[in-house]
Amino acid sequence: MSQNETIFSKIIRREINAQIVHETENVLAFRDINPQASTHVLIIPKKPIVNLNDASSEDREILGELLLAAAEVAKIEGVAQDGYRVVINNGERAGQSVFHLHLHILGGRAFEWPPG
Ligand code: 5GP
Repeated sequence: MSQNETIFSKIIRREINAQIVHETENVLAFRDINPQASTHVLIIPKKPIVNLNDASSEDREILGELLLAAAEVAKIEGVAQDGYRVVINNGERAGQSVFHLHLHILGGRAFEWPPG
């Protein structure tokens, strides 16, 4: 396993199944296996960026695409108008468990602030 090889690499290569909800040339969106809300979708770059610490200015376009995909997924899931949360757990102490950059798109319920 290379350093950037994670379970998400296998999902990108379709070696393991995921419920894909949106895909472009550079990003993939699929349902979280352990949903924390009625809508819980993960959006990842196909490029195996570990987290924001690993991103550089050459990733500017991909990082922008991830946010545009977040809005698109919210629309697809029907949560855009009510509101939804976009989360990046960046690093171990923030709760990152899969070391391939991903946005959590959570919707379908109310959320509290500050998060736990
Ligand atoms: P993190 O904790 O890194 O912010 O989020 C990783 C997320 O990936 C978790 O919410 C976890 O449920 C999800 N996850 C882990 N393994 C798989 C998998 O094999 N398939 C899918 N669809 N989600 C996964």
